[in-house]
Amino acid sequence: MKLPEGWESVIGLEVHAELLTATKLFSASPNRFGGEPNTHIDPVSLGLPGTLPVINRHAVELAIRVGLALNCDVRPSTFARKNYFYPDMPKNYQISQYDRPVSVDGELKLPDGSTVGIERAHIEEDTGKTTHAGGAGRIQGAAYSLVDYNRAGVPLVEVVSRPHMRTAEQARAFVKELRSIVLAVGVSDARMQEGSMRVDANVSVRPVGADDLRTRCEIKNLSSVRSLGRAVVHEARRQVGLWEAGGAPLQQTRHWDERRDRTVAGRSKEESEDYRYFPDPDLAPLAPSAADIAAADAALPQLPAERREALTAAADGAVAAETAALLVQRGQDGLVVGAVEAGADPERTATRVVNDLAVDDWSSVTPQRLAGLMAMETAGRISAAQAKQVLAGMLESGDTAEAVAARRGFGDVGGGELSAAVAEVLADNPDEWRRYREGDDVDRKKMAGFLTGQVMRATRGRADGAAVAALLRQHAAGRTP
Ligand code: MN
Repeated sequence: MKLPEGWESVIGLEVHAELLTATKLFSASPNRFGGEPNTHIDPVSLGLPGTLPVINRHAVELAIRVGLALNCDVRPSTFARKNYFYPDMPKNYQISQYDRPVSVDGELKLPDGSTVGIERAHIEEDTGKTTHAGGAGRIQGAAYSLVDYNRAGVPLVEVVSRPHMRTAEQARAFVKELRSIVLAVGVSDARMQEGSMRVDANVSVRPVGADDLRTRCEIKNLSSVRSLGRAVVHEARRQVGLWEAGGAPLQQTRHWDERRDRTVAGRSKEESEDYRYFPDPDLAPLAPSAADIAAADAALPQLPAERREALTAAADGAVAAETAALLVQRGQDGLVVGAVEAGADPERTATRVVNDLAVDDWSSVTPQRLAGLMAMETAGRISAAQAKQVLAGMLESGDTAEAVAARRGFGDVGGGELSAAVAEVLADNPDEWRRYREGDDVDRKKMAGFLTGQVMRATRGRADGAAVAALLRQHAAGRTP
């Protein structure tokens, strides 16, 4: 779905990711998803009077890793209190970072080659969770509300992009790439469906060619890449409609209504003044040493963009960009690179893995074993359909391709056996064989299917379809093998 001619959207994203620490940001309660309500709590995460926060060193290390992976400048930072009243935040303020965030001025490269600026990546604590009972799940009209503080105080990194994206497609690509990066550096499980990664989208529109930023709306808490894409498009179209009617959008937060396919107004958007930010007097500034930062940088694993490049290079350009991106996303790029290094055909291998290895646990398929399978397929010893079955068998049994193929009787229909089977089928089915030779294209195709089926039956499915087709053509041409 496109915007009306002459308009473009301007999109900036704020992405919250929960950090994979054992405990909360400022207390010793477990940082764990789920659990009975209000069991992962303590006086600090409940904000009881007299309690004091103690910073979790591991959370800071993970947040710094994100900043470095996004090419940010990592520097000394301070914590601030963001004041607002809401029952899921018992202190009535959220500890966050404001004017001195830990990471600033980075960038993220999208697979399409474009670059999106990163304004900042800061550390903050998560809130609890409110459930409104009755009244369609919204606070309006609810009979009562329940609060679960298990999530209160869970460490977050909030990545704020610059408004550099121009299409919903780019916004989706940004979140996918950020998710891959966060997973690759091991700082978050980034499960959008469990809320450990959440996206807010700032959207405005303007005539193509303009360079001013117009009034924006912030769509809160998008919980999937798909919702993000749809919400951005619908919101941009709504704003274009307002401008074209001579009006203007109001600055406000909005919510995505998945069922009605539209964004709906939330509160009118606060300016940062409304939060009365001030430095948190209970927490000392963070001042990671240059040596610590350098060590964290050196310890970063290869990032998704580098891995895509490595795969493309190993495959000598024979793997499509989209396939490479998908393999990296699924963490199967190393498997393909290893198999290619062991001699497998890059394009076939990538395709086979993308199509037939979409499983969670493929640890039994090593690069060597995958190369063994691909060698059998490339040499024509097994057909593509058989290779697919052999791969499934390898996953199931943990055996080599050779062992699985042998067990299933694949790959050992010798030339002699196959010729005999074809000759027998042709003799047994003279009418069909005549229609194959004398019929039109449609007839020939139909009869080829029938005759191949008979040969498969005679060989109990072991024959290679392509070899049978070749034999049929040879017979028809009078070149009996
Ligand atoms: Mn935030």
